[in-house]
Amino acid sequence: MLSVMAGAFARYTHCCKCEDPTLSFNHAAWWRFYVRKHHFGCTVSLLVVPYSFYRSEVAEPLPLPALHASHAGNWLRDANGATRGSSKGEAIMAAADTPVLLLNAPLVASRLGYPDLSGLDLLELFAFVFPARFCVPTPKGIAEALNLELPENDDAVPAMLQLAAGAMIEICESADWEYREGAWSALQSLVRMRWPWAQLLAPHIRKPERAEKWLFSKLPEWEEAADRPQPAQVEIDDTAIETQLDHLTGEGAERRDGQRSYAKSVGGIFAPRNRQALPHVLLAQAGTGIGKTLGYLAPASLWASASQGTVWVSTFTKNLQRQLREESRRAWPEKRQDGTRPVVVRKGRENYLCLLNLEDAMQGGFGGRAAILAQLVARWAAYSRDGDMIGGDLPGWLGTLFRKRAIASLTDQRGECVYAGCPHYRKCFIERSARASAQADLVIANHALVMINAARGRDHAQRPSRIVFDEGHHVFQAADSTFAATLSGKEAIELRRWIIGPERKSKGRRRGLAARLADVASYDEAGGQAIEAALQAAHALPSDGWLQRLNDNEPYGPVESLLAAVRALTYARDESGGQEAGYGIETEAAQLPGNFVELAGQAEAALAAIRHPLVKLGVQLEAVVETAPDWLDTQGRARIEGARHSLSWRIDLIAAWESLLNRLGGPSDPDFIDWLAVDRSDAREFDIAINRRWLDPMRPFAKVVLEPAHGVMLTSATLTDRGAEGDDWESAITASGTPHIEVQPKLSAADSPFDYANRAEVLIVTDIKKGDLPALAGGYARLIEAAGGGVLGLFTAIRRMRAVYGRIADRLAREGLPLFAQHVDPIDTGTLVDIFRDDPRASLLGTDALRDGVDVPGESLRCVVMEAVPWPKPSILHRARRAAGGGSKYDDRIIRARLAQAFGRLIRNKEDKGHFVVLSAAFPSRLLSAFPKGTPVIRLTLEEALQRVAEGVSSEAKPPFNEAVDIDEDSIPF
Ligand code: SF4
Repeated sequence: MLSVMAGAFARYTHCCKCEDPTLSFNHAAWWRFYVRKHHFGCTVSLLVVPYSFYRSEVAEPLPLPALHASHAGNWLRDANGATRGSSKGEAIMAAADTPVLLLNAPLVASRLGYPDLSGLDLLELFAFVFPARFCVPTPKGIAEALNLELPENDDAVPAMLQLAAGAMIEICESADWEYREGAWSALQSLVRMRWPWAQLLAPHIRKPERAEKWLFSKLPEWEEAADRPQPAQVEIDDTAIETQLDHLTGEGAERRDGQRSYAKSVGGIFAPRNRQALPHVLLAQAGTGIGKTLGYLAPASLWASASQGTVWVSTFTKNLQRQLREESRRAWPEKRQDGTRPVVVRKGRENYLCLLNLEDAMQGGFGGRAAILAQLVARWAAYSRDGDMIGGDLPGWLGTLFRKRAIASLTDQRGECVYAGCPHYRKCFIERSARASAQADLVIANHALVMINAARGRDHAQRPSRIVFDEGHHVFQAADSTFAATLSGKEAIELRRWIIGPERKSKGRRRGLAARLADVASYDEAGGQAIEAALQAAHALPSDGWLQRLNDNEPYGPVESLLAAVRALTYARDESGGQEAGYGIETEAAQLPGNFVELAGQAEAALAAIRHPLVKLGVQLEAVVETAPDWLDTQGRARIEGARHSLSWRIDLIAAWESLLNRLGGPSDPDFIDWLAVDRSDAREFDIAINRRWLDPMRPFAKVVLEPAHGVMLTSATLTDRGAEGDDWESAITASGTPHIEVQPKLSAADSPFDYANRAEVLIVTDIKKGDLPALAGGYARLIEAAGGGVLGLFTAIRRMRAVYGRIADRLAREGLPLFAQHVDPIDTGTLVDIFRDDPRASLLGTDALRDGVDVPGESLRCVVMEAVPWPKPSILHRARRAAGGGSKYDDRIIRARLAQAFGRLIRNKEDKGHFVVLSAAFPSRLLSAFPKGTPVIRLTLEEALQRVAEGVSSEAKPPFNEAVDIDEDSIPF
């Protein structure tokens, strides 16, 4: 066979290990393979490698200077010379003098402390050459993506950057480059925009023989399909569920009894409902590792197939969504025979690329660097699976390389969609996803979207009726945000812009109500008058520069005047300590002075004056649709339907604000918590608000989501609180919202199969004093050193985390232990986790989002370190819920849940093992039940902890248990 192939050999190179000749050949039109006589032990193996990998391995380095900066130092390499260490000043000068190759310019800039740094960023080149392809944005990551030899140390990075740049440029010349389509046209625009790579790439990307279609004509159109009939009423029997589970887990898979009984209990939620407004509800505690995803996908897929209905699986984290997408492939094909997709990931509109915004951006709406980003996003859009920009196949790091909000402004953040009035409506990613989900067997969504869809979905037929809430412990939090009301400066100015349009001359397409509904206004006099009245009334809302005016004590209009009073009263009354620390401040909306209540009344009247004409307009729009005038074609009808929908949720929003203001100064409502707040970060104000939350947000959740549904499950590894007496189902039932609709939920529990007793240790370090920052930083550094990296550090305060990071990052980097941190490194959280996962010597510091959003099985996460017991923040909201929830017992439940979630990061599969360290001199014993039964818990000094961490967890040396320790309760908040 080899000799037959040999005829096609095109090129010779060498084995990386033994210098033997390596052979490559042209194999087919699409792929070029090479056969490599590889020095692998004593065997000769034949490797088949994609063409692009092969090419990059033999590419010539790009002869340009290269710069690499890390916490350990800076390295410069001349175009053709050697690499040398350099000072920060020298590195900055070099970058200023001549374009240098670098990787992740914002990160290099932050390492050098020089924010204006620019250069030839290899990540931008990667985004151009490989749109919609994933790459970890580190030297190791880019080397792996291009199949280059990994740089062994910082010193080797600049040479690798030259090689990587050369490899990517060479790929652009290849006939087999899979992303060629559209590249030449995009490059012409990028040349005009003076993208640093453009001139370098131009000679290597040949002009296509035929003109390339531009993105907006190239994307496929979605097809309209008939509504699915309502699902058949079917029962799924246990035997069928077991058989399906066997099928999904695959032949030879280990039989897991916990998973089987879990799957069968999930089957019950798909049974036909016996009474209206009484759904089947299951609360399922599923220990980590029981295989809950396939456990619920087995009955869900059976039901979807038998009933022709849709199951919604809702998650809290994007990570689980990604995982679910993968797992669902076992139950459903990628596409059905008719080309439709049985599984659809559905997110909020603000996640997707809005093609109209992109078109605006490409036609002058964006300038400077943001315009370059728009071109790169357009490259991606042509290859994207579903146009999902946040957590989809657009690299998370792309946005951070450019202006901060540029990515967000390419999405439909402000609900400005003009629906059928949009020229790209039939190609719109959002519309495509909404239509696909109406035909899907499985919709993978998030908690907030499921709740919003249930509350104000455009189409009743599409509202979820069978719902699995995975990560069910987050449903309360999601409901809390979804059913909240906030009248703030930012929200109010958005409403003003939606009604009036942008104030300053805007390059973009943002238009007010009058422009969007011009045809209605000219056809229907009453409608036109309503639009005009709303426009006039909306001038009472805050306008550009409102924060500055409040600062200068010169508010304009009734709403700004009220916000000025909110600000003054909050500063007068806040005693949280946030004023000095630069954090946000707040005060309860109680004992309000007379003039404040008066201002609230004026603002309420102003809001009512906006709402009334909007309600009237809604009625007129309905009448226009009903009378169906000649000019109203299908597109026009769809556009007016869209306008009615966005009108109705704005009317609801204004009504909620009015009700919020109406209650100020009156008796308090026991169902709600109202407070005033000035949102600040580092002492800089960014919003002023009157907030309202439900005391129990599961009350509206039960009405809006549970009651109309037929079957709902909430499942999680931490659904119940693990108190001293075992699982506390009572609080789990209360937190599910079922008591509000008088449903008795079914309960199920499956324990984790992991051997926590032998694979994990909880170490409570008792000799680091609270508030001793140098000791805290020293503790973190030494633990990371002892573990050799692989540490996830969790903090409850960003400021403390930054201080610790600042003290230890350089020291660790010099030992080859890279440290990354949320809120410090200019990298989005998802990418930080990707970097952490990719490098077993890296460590990552972060706050809440990392506590249960990180899934890093294997070597990369060996140790979790918490800076302290995670007490809840003593906010006004928390104080009220604490009082209603049993005082300190309420707090204990929250803390145990946080500890359990954080501990859950450590052991993700059977092979994982490691330490969970809490740096707390006073860790109350009653919280220890948060950890899985049998997990050894040891109170010890830092020195002892370092020793244990350095030795690793060993199943032979059983540590002593030390659970009964007297705690100084005075040292605990509250
Ligand atoms: S239909 Fe709406 S969201 Fe879609 S591209 Fe057009 S304006 Fe944007």
